[in-house]
Amino acid sequence: MANDSKKHESSTSKFQSIISHCKEYGFVFPGSEIYDGLQAVYDYGQWGSELKKNIKDYWWKSMTQMHENIIGIDAAIFMHPTTWKASGHVDNFNDPMIDNKDSKKRYRVDHLIEDYAQKLNAESKIQEAEQLLDEMNSLLAKDDFESLKKLIVDNKIKCSISGTCNWTDIRQFNLMFSTEFGSTESSEKGPEENGLANIVYLRPETAQGIFVNFLNVQKSGRMKIPFGIAQIGKAFRNEIVARQFIFRMREFEQMEMQFFIRPGTQKEWYERWKETRMNWHLSLGISNDKYRFHDHVKLAHYADAACDIEYEFPIGFKEVEGIHSRTDFDLKNHQEYSKKKMQYFDNDVDPATGKPYGNYIPYVIETSIGLDRMFLLVMSEAYTEEDLSTSEKQDSRVVLKFPPSLAPVKLAILPLVKKDGLPEIARKIMDDCKSSFRCFYEEKDTIGKRYRRMDAIGTPFCVTVDQQTKEDNTVTIRHRDTMQQERIPADQVKKIVAGSII
Ligand code: ATP
Repeated sequence: MANDSKKHESSTSKFQSIISHCKEYGFVFPGSEIYDGLQAVYDYGQWGSELKKNIKDYWWKSMTQMHENIIGIDAAIFMHPTTWKASGHVDNFNDPMIDNKDSKKRYRVDHLIEDYAQKLNAESKIQEAEQLLDEMNSLLAKDDFESLKKLIVDNKIKCSISGTCNWTDIRQFNLMFSTEFGSTESSEKGPEENGLANIVYLRPETAQGIFVNFLNVQKSGRMKIPFGIAQIGKAFRNEIVARQFIFRMREFEQMEMQFFIRPGTQKEWYERWKETRMNWHLSLGISNDKYRFHDHVKLAHYADAACDIEYEFPIGFKEVEGIHSRTDFDLKNHQEYSKKKMQYFDNDVDPATGKPYGNYIPYVIETSIGLDRMFLLVMSEAYTEEDLSTSEKQDSRVVLKFPPSLAPVKLAILPLVKKDGLPEIARKIMDDCKSSFRCFYEEKDTIGKRYRRMDAIGTPFCVTVDQQTKEDNTVTIRHRDTMQQERIPADQVKKIVAGSII
């Protein structure tokens, strides 16, 4: 038990260190900080935005460029309000919540119970915790709120603020943000033409932009089933309890892909996409045992099978990506609500009948990964505190061991001193490299301090220009992870760095 709580403490402190590091080194800032922040909204800084872009590019390239049958789109955030009626979000995109009457603090029911189960686990009451979670899952699956409340009360689960068990009944809370469209003057043409109020929603997922464009893309791209449509974009959810840094935000980004398939083939494609997506994660060099699949017990309103890819964050194993077999739910409903056909004509021959498969509404496998959660994953994996003390002196460093392809800066170019023509040589190397990858030039402070600053933002290579460079045109290249230094010809720098980031 002592070991468990020590592990928990050190993980929590690692998480706190990551949050501080992100702020101190320009990765992530609290949103609107000068006004004391806005809950669960964050801004990405100079290096955070580079890292985020690199993660996006890595995903985009592997999903589109590497798959001939997947193309990308960029749909609008605002969609016709009927979209969300058809998708089921107006009626079903709810989380059960409960309020503590004394502290007025609001909880998501599953989080409240899960946190309590975690506490039981930390006290080595593993069986009790498992039983509790099983019971919770089966009650959630039935939307049995009365029994869920009883479960909370019977287990004496308390509010962390008031310390009491004085709970309200459980209610559903819709997570969509809404706003008004255009002028509220009745002369303005808007969604009300279709009998709806002027209300539009900020999309809670990017997927619907893909569904409503399914035929546009299929026809204009002459796509044949099976094929996929990928998209990266913002999504908004009015999360009941937004917490844990960028893990749960109210404005976030998703990288989603809808794969359109023939009905009846969904099991096979679901398994294939589970494997493909897990391999994508492992391709970043992250160890297998940091990941696991978690099969959903309570399926979303649109799914016939679903699982999460979970990663062991410093705050425990948590979802980073969802893989869902969405059947024909979305396209069928859009067909019904829009009165536009969402069918595909398949002229491949069905071996069972000897005739073409003909017209059908395709089934869909979805892979949906949160960009911000992936950012946190990459950051958690990279963040390393190293003790470099020797018998002579105490020393340590924080280094972000990003895969070079994701690192915000690939190469730092550092003249040893800012005189004797060294800055000019360094600038020449910079000019040679900067169109190929992100470089950073710095001449201030000792070389040791400059190395440490580059370690702290995860720059895989530093090149130092010194007096010897003037004589033989060689430079010192320093490798971030090993801190090893070697002398190489200056004209080799670009090739070495470029070779490591493919
Ligand atoms: P959770 O159970 O954590 O609320 P979810 O199952 O509702 O997530 P999905 O609807 O499957 O999530 O969304 C796909 C992905 O989008 C998630 O795996 C996650 O990475 C990301 N995501 C969802 N909600 C948020 C959020 N509030 N903040 C950041 N990322 C999110």
